[in-house]
Amino acid sequence: MRSSHKITLFWFREDLRLSDNPGLFEAAKNGSVLPIYILEDTPSISFKMGSASRWWLDHSLRMLNKSLEGKLNVYKGCSKEILLKLSQENQVGAVYWNTSYTPWHLENDDEIKAVLAKKGIECKSFNASLLWDPSKILKKDGSYYKVFTPFYRNGCLQASPPRTPLPKPDRLSCIKDEYNQIGFSDLNLLPDKNWYLSLESCWEVGEKAAQKKRDIFLDQHLKGYKEGRNYPSLSHTSRLSPHLHFGEISPNQIWYAVQEKAIIHGLDNDMDCFLSELGWREFSYYLLYHFPELPRQNFQSKFNAFPWEDNVLLLKAWQKGQTGYPIVDAGMRELWQTGYMHNRVRMIVGSFLVKNLLLNWQYGENWFWECLVDADLASNSASWQWIAGSGADAAPYFRVFNPVLQGEKFDSQGEYTRRYIPELSQLPNQYLFKPWEAPEDVLKVAKVVLGQTYPHPIVSLRKSRERALESYRRLSRV
Ligand SMILES: Cc1cc2nc3c(=O)[nH]c(=O)nc-3n(C[C@H](O)[C@H](O)[C@H](O)COP(=O)(O)OP(=O)(O)OC[C@H]3O[C@@H](n4cnc5c(N)ncnc54)[C@H](O)[C@@H]3O)c2cc1C
Repeated sequence: MRSSHKITLFWFREDLRLSDNPGLFEAAKNGSVLPIYILEDTPSISFKMGSASRWWLDHSLRMLNKSLEGKLNVYKGCSKEILLKLSQENQVGAVYWNTSYTPWHLENDDEIKAVLAKKGIECKSFNASLLWDPSKILKKDGSYYKVFTPFYRNGCLQASPPRTPLPKPDRLSCIKDEYNQIGFSDLNLLPDKNWYLSLESCWEVGEKAAQKKRDIFLDQHLKGYKEGRNYPSLSHTSRLSPHLHFGEISPNQIWYAVQEKAIIHGLDNDMDCFLSELGWREFSYYLLYHFPELPRQNFQSKFNAFPWEDNVLLLKAWQKGQTGYPIVDAGMRELWQTGYMHNRVRMIVGSFLVKNLLLNWQYGENWFWECLVDADLASNSASWQWIAGSGADAAPYFRVFNPVLQGEKFDSQGEYTRRYIPELSQLPNQYLFKPWEAPEDVLKVAKVVLGQTYPHPIVSLRKSRERALESYRRLSRV
């Protein structure tokens, strides 16, 4: 590397794409760019990436490297030290990056800016991951919104519209660091055991794949999204969440494309519903920004006194998809096999964990963090707190999803459940979601032996629901 003119270092983070990348776009205008990625895997990071996310990141970095014609430089360690070293050893005049709105990053970024500024290096950061800057959307009295609808309708939709997407930089002249960078496999993102092979068949990773998926969704599945998004066997949801998390596509690239499509085809209701889901993503980041303790602390402090149970066996049964409730087990096995779970089923398994098993929502949050390819600090913690009732604008405590009724309503033909619970595949629909009610001869024909081929229910729905309601009622009297 070592050139005589000043170069701009561009630091990729959760923005692994070339198009609509404001930081990269500006960096490219300055001339030569040193594109880098740093894996910060030190024990001081409180939210070390989960295994499924590491698999995704490995693939995403390799795809990004291809788009950069092999010029992506990767490093492992402390970002502050690495940025300083690279800036000092090379003719770096400026360091640009896109903001990551997670509390740890925001704090770290301030420190880095201060250190680099002292060395006379220009630092600039840009918003590339959110439609609206969370610091700018406030109520009239200056406080932040705690309820989704006013946040979205009065805050976001009344503010200036989101930035329109930028193209790829016209000219991108990248530099390879021949001295310090390490190989992709040195990042050790993949475990020794190749459990992740099942993920390989489910996902195409990278910017191109994300754009292709968005376009297919818009062409084939936006129509009917509002209703269809509730049914896990249908393909009415976009499955864009991991691409959004890693920034292979920006929310802006989705926001405007959806509107364009919907206007041409008159899909206003589906569009409004889909855009509001992007709004929930914004709301999650917004809550995390204003309440950085969200992943670890109850948003409503009265929940600190909640009498959670501590039962490892129940937790293990839930994690393994062995609860005896087929729709719950199907969801947990979908998660394990694919790194993803349909939103409706996330709500069902979440409610089952915190209400029927009375286990702390953080157990669920941690397991999702480990297994989801779209694991996202903001959306995961906000959603788990929503389920538990401890969050902002949370589900009311008396809303306990009934896994039998949910299965019968949203997977009435059992396609989804049978896909993940093959041992119940021959059970008639009538008993699929409550195999314990099936007569002996029906079980026999379906080759189901409860307690052997498929578990008995691990808790009674009625008793566990009553116990949860009583615990929640007591809390609301506090
Ligand atoms: C317990 C629980 C945990 C969750 N953990 C995560 C997580 O770690 N990461 C994550 O991205 N989402 C999480 N979600 C939200 C939601 O389930 C996923 O975003 C959604 O299922 C992704 O599928 P999709 O891309 O097909 O969604 P679509 O229906 O196609 O929605 C489009 C996009 O909108 C956003 N979105 C949709 N629903 C929500 C929501 N409820 N909250 C926030 N954003 C939303 C996502 O970015 C999604 O990609 C969680 C939900 C629950 C109930």
